[in-house]
Amino acid sequence: MSEHVRVRFAPSPTGYLHVGGARTALFNWLYARKTGGKFILRIEDTDVERSTQEAVDGLLRDMKWLGLTWDEGPEVGGPHGPYFQSQRLEIYHRYARQLVEKGAAYPCFCSEEELEAKRMKAEEEHRSVHYDGTCRRLSKEEVDRRIAAGEPHVIRVKVPEKDYILDDLVRGKVEWKAETLGDFIILRSSGMPVYNFCVVADDADMQISHVVRAEEHLTNTHRQLILYEALGIKPPVFAHASLILGEDKTKLSKRHGATSVGQYAEDGFLREAMINFLALLGWNEGTDREIYSVEELKERFSLERISKSPGVFDHAKLTWMNGQHLRALPVDQLLPMVEPLLKKAMPEETRLQNPEILRKLVELIQIKMNVLNDAVDVARSFLQAGEPENEEAAAMVATEKSQKLFAALADEFSRCEWVRDGYNAAIKAAGKIAEAKGKDLFMPIRVKITGTCHGPDLVGILDVLGRDETLKRLK
Ligand code: GLU
Repeated sequence: MSEHVRVRFAPSPTGYLHVGGARTALFNWLYARKTGGKFILRIEDTDVERSTQEAVDGLLRDMKWLGLTWDEGPEVGGPHGPYFQSQRLEIYHRYARQLVEKGAAYPCFCSEEELEAKRMKAEEEHRSVHYDGTCRRLSKEEVDRRIAAGEPHVIRVKVPEKDYILDDLVRGKVEWKAETLGDFIILRSSGMPVYNFCVVADDADMQISHVVRAEEHLTNTHRQLILYEALGIKPPVFAHASLILGEDKTKLSKRHGATSVGQYAEDGFLREAMINFLALLGWNEGTDREIYSVEELKERFSLERISKSPGVFDHAKLTWMNGQHLRALPVDQLLPMVEPLLKKAMPEETRLQNPEILRKLVELIQIKMNVLNDAVDVARSFLQAGEPENEEAAAMVATEKSQKLFAALADEFSRCEWVRDGYNAAIKAAGKIAEAKGKDLFMPIRVKITGTCHGPDLVGILDVLGRDETLKRLK
């Protein structure tokens, strides 16, 4: 069965890739990768007024950044293309013709004015305001004659008088009553197909096996089930994931902070952390585990464990998770990500030009970082040290004992071998001379050399600064 899994992400290119959309894409991608199925990217751009090329470019860029590679879709093509709805009009017309030919849909010539009048009358008489089916009853001869005469018409699907039940993988049984819909339009008089019809025609044509999407599309599923039935095609399996909420439990919006994937990329978040975070925003294995690699998610993900309750987008948790992933990266991987940031922020810093020092620096600051952009602040805190950061720090270096310590240390440092064992021994010796131990020993030295009471490992800092710079700062 697994080779038949075909899932899709079908964004409308009317804005940036939202974290909610990215989660939908991720669930589909994980399911395809887990089952060895295919992941298809389809651009739903029939709303020409709101769709832009810029949005398409941004979507593809952000999908690539996340590593959500697609097997069929824009740029890569595939056997069921084109993958832009705006280029598939012929396909929609073909499906509409099929429906008319088999009597499951019909042309409707009722004008807007007639329909409006009928709606008003129905409302007055407290009847259902659905389309009354006038053109359902036209003879074939009349239909042919009016079409030949060029009368404008839409195509409507015949909605059967029956309830529809969806067995959703996440939400369970969802039921729609027969009387809630009239014969609805699938093709407008302009020849433009309506949204739900495009989705069904495409999902059918692209042989989609599972539709995994957000809860907001659940109501569309009623019409879509009717269309599958009309076409005589078995509908895919549906799984509607819950909404994503902000921390105040209202629908996630810009008010809650960044909601675009691109913004997180720019703010120095890692792809691995973003994927981990989004995966757990509405899916879990039934354990408390929070940190997963992408590979582990690919193995463990299942549609059945998508959660029914809404996920809460917790920024602090995302930052924490990013720190976990970032600190677990091999230095070789982190270095090329951090190097351009550092060089851009401190172009005058010649130490950054030395590959050996740069590597030591990255090793040193890694444990203090949560996001990539933290690298600059952490590195700057000791590379470009200034005066003590506050009164407490200033007082610490001003004591007689500290002065004695710095003098002794400068002496020891100027003679010792400039390796870790060497300066550790020098610090110890200077401590003896100045009678300073523990915190009294290390804190003043740290403040004297870096200006702050915090920061990475002192010995590591000495590695990066080198002997000359250290001595200059001590004196
Ligand atoms: N184009 C729709 C959207 O961007 C998705 C439709 C679907 O997944 O069925 O929300």
